[in-house]
Amino acid sequence: MLSKRDSTSTAFHSILTKVIVNGEVQPKDTIQREYIITKMTNLEVPKHTLNLDPRQQKSPLRSGATPSPNLPEAKHTHIHPRGSDGNENAHLRFIGTATTVLEWQGIRILTDPNFLHAGDHVHLGPGVQGTRQTNPAIDLEDLPNVDVVLLSHYHADHFDQKVEAELRRDLPIVTTPHAKECLQDKKSDDEKFTAVHDLDFWESATMNISSSGASASVPAVKVTGMPGKHVPPGPLSVANDLLSAVPPTNGWMLELGYSTDSAFNCGYRIYISGDTLLVDDLKQIPEKYTNADKPIDLMLVHLGGTTIPSPKVPLLMVTMDAQQGVKLMQLVKPDVTVPIHYDDYDVFLSPLEDFKKAVQEAGLESGVVYLDRGEGYRFGVKGE
Ligand SMILES: [Zn+2]
Repeated sequence: MLSKRDSTSTAFHSILTKVIVNGEVQPKDTIQREYIITKMTNLEVPKHTLNLDPRQQKSPLRSGATPSPNLPEAKHTHIHPRGSDGNENAHLRFIGTATTVLEWQGIRILTDPNFLHAGDHVHLGPGVQGTRQTNPAIDLEDLPNVDVVLLSHYHADHFDQKVEAELRRDLPIVTTPHAKECLQDKKSDDEKFTAVHDLDFWESATMNISSSGASASVPAVKVTGMPGKHVPPGPLSVANDLLSAVPPTNGWMLELGYSTDSAFNCGYRIYISGDTLLVDDLKQIPEKYTNADKPIDLMLVHLGGTTIPSPKVPLLMVTMDAQQGVKLMQLVKPDVTVPIHYDDYDVFLSPLEDFKKAVQEAGLESGVVYLDRGEGYRFGVKGE
């Protein structure tokens, strides 16, 4: 089941060192991928259309027991730092790592499902292991109905072995082309995930939510793949493309709004960074959104300064640390930022305290909401 993850046995750091020294690898695959992505950038047509039905109440697990109708009560629910405007109609729950549940219009979107417990191990690449330090706020078995999973990349701290074994095979998953391949490349047919929708950078899927009202507009969520780089550009990236050590990753732009026959009107925009470093590609995000009259209401930023191959041999940082997280806030200028993915594994070396300090130094604390695992954030999607 974990054949892709286990296919290379050489230690990751020794592979990287070899490639830097040799420096001979041709970046053909990278060039082709960049070319295809550039070609796709201007396409507005959604690549996939999904129909989500809030009346469906199925277990997200293969075992199929009737799911509980709701998430357990939040430990605490936060609202906008400036206070309530009385129109909160959507809810985000932080479960742990990059796992969140977004609830709006009766549907639930689960991001990067990771339900391992403290002490459990994950395989993060050839020779790279991580040990979970925390427990998720709820257990996988206690999840209510989930309508769709958004998976930023195929890495075990985002889609762990327990999740992979137990999720219902026909649960819709939106993810990267690479992860789609991994989720469908199984030895036996009944292990394959059957409803996986791939998005590359700037490609979109529209998820229409069926509603009983007679209104001409229907609630919908548009999800667009955002650029992300888990490995710094340059020879390391070229090496990584060839060795498939660290998987390609997407960020996401989630636009919650209402569709009519002719238009989609966004009422709330959420940018999820994914496991990326602060790379030049991210500059396109404010160009296409913030500075193009499409403001970003909420940013979920994956922090942690994940450093591999291990905390004892910290050679290569593959997610943003505190300083990069603050720079991303300054670049993207979201109205509110919620940090996630910051302390759940021993390979996360940049603690939340560092981010808090950096936020304060930058004078940005009024735009940050800190969620502990099990806490929620309520916000209002306009246009109902
Ligand atoms: Zn991660």
